[in-house]
Amino acid sequence: MNTSNKEYDVVIVGGGWAGSLLAYKLAAANKTVLVLESGVAIDGVTSSDDNDQPETYQRGDFMETFYLAMAKTPESPYVQNYNAPRPSVLDIRTTAEDDKIPDNCNQPVKSIDTKGYFIQKGPMPFGSTYERRGGGTSWHWLGTSLRLLPKDFKMASEYKVGVDWPMKYEDLSPYYDEAEYEIGVSADVEEQAIHGITFSKGYVYPMAKIPPTLLDVAMTTGLKNFHWQNIEMKVTGTPAGRNGTPNKMKDGTYYDNGRRQCQGNTNCTPICPIQAKYDATISMKKALMTGNVDIMYQAVAYDIKIDKLTQQVTGIMYKTYETINGGVKDTGVVTGKKYVIAANAIEAAKLLLMSNAPFGVANGSGQVGKNLMDHPVYLAWGLMPKSTFPFRGPLSTSGIETTRDGDFRKTRAAFRIEIGNEGWNWPGGAPYTQLINIVSPGGAVAHGDRNSFGSGLRKQIQKDFTRQFRIGFLMEQLPDANNYIVPSKKCMDNLGIPRPEIHYDLNKYTREGFKAAADAAKAIFSQLKVENANTPPVATGGQFKYDNVTYYSQGAGHVMGTHRMGFNKYDSVTNADMKSWDHDNLYIVGCGSFPTTATANPTLTMSALCFKAADAIIKSF
Ligand SMILES: Cc1cc2nc3c(=O)[nH]c(=O)nc-3n(C[C@H](O)[C@H](O)[C@H](O)COP(=O)(O)OP(=O)(O)OC[C@H]3O[C@@H](n4cnc5c(N)ncnc54)[C@H](O)[C@@H]3O)c2cc1C
Ligand code: SF4
Repeated sequence: MNTSNKEYDVVIVGGGWAGSLLAYKLAAANKTVLVLESGVAIDGVTSSDDNDQPETYQRGDFMETFYLAMAKTPESPYVQNYNAPRPSVLDIRTTAEDDKIPDNCNQPVKSIDTKGYFIQKGPMPFGSTYERRGGGTSWHWLGTSLRLLPKDFKMASEYKVGVDWPMKYEDLSPYYDEAEYEIGVSADVEEQAIHGITFSKGYVYPMAKIPPTLLDVAMTTGLKNFHWQNIEMKVTGTPAGRNGTPNKMKDGTYYDNGRRQCQGNTNCTPICPIQAKYDATISMKKALMTGNVDIMYQAVAYDIKIDKLTQQVTGIMYKTYETINGGVKDTGVVTGKKYVIAANAIEAAKLLLMSNAPFGVANGSGQVGKNLMDHPVYLAWGLMPKSTFPFRGPLSTSGIETTRDGDFRKTRAAFRIEIGNEGWNWPGGAPYTQLINIVSPGGAVAHGDRNSFGSGLRKQIQKDFTRQFRIGFLMEQLPDANNYIVPSKKCMDNLGIPRPEIHYDLNKYTREGFKAAADAAKAIFSQLKVENANTPPVATGGQFKYDNVTYYSQGAGHVMGTHRMGFNKYDSVTNADMKSWDHDNLYIVGCGSFPTTATANPTLTMSALCFKAADAIIKSF
């Protein structure tokens, strides 16, 4: 067993988004930091010579894998690593199929390949995924960087549902500023203020908002002054963590993060080829440049050691491996004065529950792993009356935010409506699937003819592909103790570490949201004179029936709630600084900290929370 002689100020588990931000801020405050990262290294983001890293990857490798992949999913550029496996959208299955999973758990590699990584106990499958490699899930995020609304922090006091956050919007506002500058967000203060968000005096986003696409303009014009259920369907620009035109700073210079401007090729999910979009390797590189940070890749944390007397964390046990499908190489323990778990909401909860048997770590409240939430997505898609030329511009540049708050939240989920510039890619696998269908003799075509070629094929492509569009309703979900993740007792990964067993459903509140979303989509489509696609989406795993109507729920990739913060140790895992109530030197960060989901894509808020936690850690020394 390896025992590190060096005691660090802070040991961080997870070199993904949250871990990288924490490492950077702590190192900049002169704290020594060790990061344990379960996945493989990214070239140039290492604290030692690259040759010491058994496996390293580059953006170019990911692009190569992506080009060759038959299905262009969020995971397609990134090969599966059986020693730090991750779920894939291709594995989101209904409960009936998932019942079979445990049968071949004794052969992890085979079972992960054929049935997926998650052990989905249902009744509905959990639809979201994440990445386990240096940089974490920031490798395939879309870039949407909205702030929460002030009322999102007080669902219980405003609407008598869910719980309140142990902080107000105003408490987080300065940390939002800090996060927006670290990520590099392009947006417009005046436009965002329409949604009821306040900014500090004179605040400007680092970069001007990304210009709207032709589709955005068509929707803005078509929906002008249009109301659904007394809500104005106003289209506004979406703040994005990708480089636009730099704004002038207070000192007269222009914001410059050294990265290139977005080139608008609609590939943000799964990968930005030129790093115009933020990813966490940017912050990790800055952290490493301080000289205060060491990072160990291919080191999977599996046990958090606790001193029974003091209840302090005393070390983190980890397993290493040499190749992505070989077995355990070694085990080791690392020690620090403070510890941060930043392993993504599902893996973090799993690690806490695997440690300190039988109670788990930080689990005095019994809430660890519980309240698993997402923004289940309702998709609607069709053909615009005129060409709006999708497949250009970033994947999403505008949305409808007026549906995010209102008295209706007492009885049904709120949602935001994302406008997608990628045609029918998400619901229908476009452009690949439709093209195959059009040219093949037996293809099923929703619009136009089969077996087309020559000028007929050209005409169909021009007529249909240029009019494709979709909207996605990102649904609020309330905390529910019946939605939870536990380490599987039966199914292990290649290192013998339990895989996540997930129990998940959508309750009446969220299902009512889907019903409202379908109604809103119908109204919007009728107003815009859209030709509705009327076919099920390609991914039907999240299918459910409500009031005799079949809906298809998709995962948003927003994994939340499994180690929620709160006001006291009886019903939450951490305080508002993300410090464990039970262990004085342990912090747990990530979207798992969210007490409720609201409707905004969560990672900007998560980043703000990470900076808040980092401040608290620095002060605690
Ligand atoms: C397709 C997709 C699109 C998305 N788009 C958006 C968006 O537009 N806007 C938005 O706000 N959010 C978006 N997200 C969500 C966003 O990516 C996540 O919220 C964010 O990455 C979470 O950060 P994290 O640090 O908690 O986890 P991660 O970034 O996943 O990092 C966790 C890290 O911990 C490591 N780790 C895990 N287990 C262990 C272990 N046992 N030992 C050591 N290390 C471990 C992992 O390898 C990983 O590097 C999207 C997600 C997906 C999947
Ligand atoms: S549109 Fe292209 S360049 Fe711009 S952020 Fe997305 S992938 Fe990167």
